[in-house]
Amino acid sequence: MSIEHVGVVGAGQMGSGIAQVCSAAGLKVTLCDQNQQAVDRGINAIKTSLERMLAKEKISADQLSETLARITSSTSTESLAKADIVIEAATEIESIKQSIFKDLDRICQPNAILATNTSSISITRLAAVTERPQQVIGMHFMNPVPMMKLVEVIRGLQTDDRVFEQVNELSKFIGKVPVDVKDSFGFVSNRILLPMINEAIFCRYEGLASAEEIDTVMKLGMSHPMGPLALADLIGLDTCLNIMEVLYDGFNDSKYRPCPLLKQMVDAGYLGRKSGRGFYQYD
Ligand code: NAD
Repeated sequence: MSIEHVGVVGAGQMGSGIAQVCSAAGLKVTLCDQNQQAVDRGINAIKTSLERMLAKEKISADQLSETLARITSSTSTESLAKADIVIEAATEIESIKQSIFKDLDRICQPNAILATNTSSISITRLAAVTERPQQVIGMHFMNPVPMMKLVEVIRGLQTDDRVFEQVNELSKFIGKVPVDVKDSFGFVSNRILLPMINEAIFCRYEGLASAEEIDTVMKLGMSHPMGPLALADLIGLDTCLNIMEVLYDGFNDSKYRPCPLLKQMVDAGYLGRKSGRGFYQYD
């Protein structure tokens, strides 16, 4: 099966970015979220990103309008019935993803691939709620999707080799570099990144230094392009907490204990850039 039509579930920062890069590569895209407000926010984010690229002369005005024209938006997963692959990029909560995968399994054509952009949840467990576990795979993009080259491609225990090859080809076709990673909580990227971010939050929690100072240490001392607390704000503190909880529960190891400050900030609705406040303030 050649991939021509991509469905995306979840029009947040990752889903909108995935829709954008797939459409920019010439694929037909259907972008879905649970309500019109979320869908509109996703489409607006794509427009803003493309306009920024146009201003920097990275794309032409024609490319901008053609990329937008190839994206259809919807508030119903039923609109994904004809997609060749669906990439799920909804909230990082296993029960939400399981319910979406059950729906997709019922709605999508029998040979469609069901991929997930989960940051940490077991692909094998998500695959197990469908009748087509051999066609379920992890396709873990990085944030911001249009800029970041990496896609971790994660096979569940039952994933077919042919599906793995197709997803590798698709990743390359949309300009990304796929890396083959085993199915384990957090895969490679978040097994390394999130404990580091969590430790930076512990440094803040224990008053070792201000947020700016912690980020400066990592930027100037370790040549990180962005400090861990600014990165946590970009990822979303709710997503960071969800990933730490998957690591903590999954490995049953206290070294992954989420910092109490991270929990408190999420409880307060300080989610980072998406809510306007996290370790820093945003307009
Ligand atoms: P986000 O909060 O920006 O967006 C999540 C979207 O999912 C929201 O628009 C929400 O309305 C939608 N959603 C929730 N339940 C839904 C449902 N039942 N049906 C359809 N849509 C639903 O989150 P995000 O940062 O885009 O993260 C999405 C996924 O991508 C998560 O699994 C996350 O772990 C993963 N991810 C995030 C990053 C990051 O840096 N933020 C990086 C890589 C992967």
